[in-house]
Amino acid sequence: MAVYKHDNYLRQRNDAVFDILLEPGTAAPYPGIYRCEFCGHEIISEKVIPLPSADHHTHDQPQDGIYWRLTIRSS
Ligand SMILES: [Zn+2]
Repeated sequence: MAVYKHDNYLRQRNDAVFDILLEPGTAAPYPGIYRCEFCGHEIISEKVIPLPSADHHTHDQPQDGIYWRLTIRSS
């Protein structure tokens, strides 16, 4: 899980983009931190760069695929 020290560098927003689960290989809609919805593995992506593929990492249950959720959006 992403952590921070100084909260004056982050701002809470309720943008719908944080609710979307993105499939592997989808172009990142924003630069920032993305989290695997199933296991919590986090990656950093730049805007428009494809998110890691379905074989980026594995889960104990193969049917539990990777879906990426934007957790921290950079401006
Ligand atoms: Zn995962």
